[in-house]
Amino acid sequence: MPTHVNGLHHVTSLASGAQANNAFFTRVLGLRRVKKTVNFDAPDVYHLYYGDAAGTPGTVMTYFPFPHARRGRAGTGEVATTAFAVPRGALPFWETRLAGFGVAGLERTTRLGEARLMFRGPDGDGFALVETEDTRAPWTGNGVDADVAIRGFHSADMRLSPRGAAASRELLQFMGYDRLDTEGNVTRFRVPGGNAADVIDVTETEAPGADQGAGSVHHIAFSVDDRAAQLDLRKALMDTGYQVTPVIDRDYFWAIYFRSPGGVLFEVATDEPGFDRDEDRAHLGAALKLPTQHEHLRAELERRLEPIED
Ligand code: ZN
Repeated sequence: MPTHVNGLHHVTSLASGAQANNAFFTRVLGLRRVKKTVNFDAPDVYHLYYGDAAGTPGTVMTYFPFPHARRGRAGTGEVATTAFAVPRGALPFWETRLAGFGVAGLERTTRLGEARLMFRGPDGDGFALVETEDTRAPWTGNGVDADVAIRGFHSADMRLSPRGAAASRELLQFMGYDRLDTEGNVTRFRVPGGNAADVIDVTETEAPGADQGAGSVHHIAFSVDDRAAQLDLRKALMDTGYQVTPVIDRDYFWAIYFRSPGGVLFEVATDEPGFDRDEDRAHLGAALKLPTQHEHLRAELERRLEPIED
């Protein structure tokens, strides 16, 4: 294996409403909106990014909000839970805060020795907050102080059929993950020396296949340092038989995509150039940014896209 990934880069999901989505991730979870742009492949849909101060890879939750989209149905072949890291002792704060905002699905559980608070996003999205040691500096504000604030991703939990799970466990090891631990039907993987968003859980189950819709994860992106590492990994994946897209310029990173054997769409994204390439750090996420190829649509898009009140 010529190169390995650093952990997660971003997680991208589907939503039904842009305003509700923005309010949830900024005002409820206390993340920073680090980019307001459009889906480069369908520019009449927003692409909203939420993360830490800089949108550091491993912290960035992103959404395509499709107005009035029907809700997805949970099942196998998808990411069932996206987990964020919070400091030890932070869960009582979050349980009270999320209950106060009327957040659904609150449930305290434990997995592999870590306390977690399960909850649902505005479209039924499966989330967890996990108490862990994490030295990443958080974005703070909106009533969320540094002693409890989200540090970035902890993990993604892929719910897969037995056959998909077996092949995905092999793929994760090929990408640089080590098999760390097992609890019940969950196998945990971690990248040694990763970026702290470096855990993937594989949950093996016989449930029917998922039906993607609002609240579903669309894809998960893994981080590599740069384009050279991305090309190395692309070649290695293709040599193993994966059908991988050419490198695509996403303005804030370079991306390749392939379908993992369990059904989850995987992306490999570069840490370069980052979200401050077209906005300074102080104003990240404030203005509607359009890629050059869609700039001529600005007037129409600004008229048609759902207004987002900050
Ligand atoms: Zn992506």
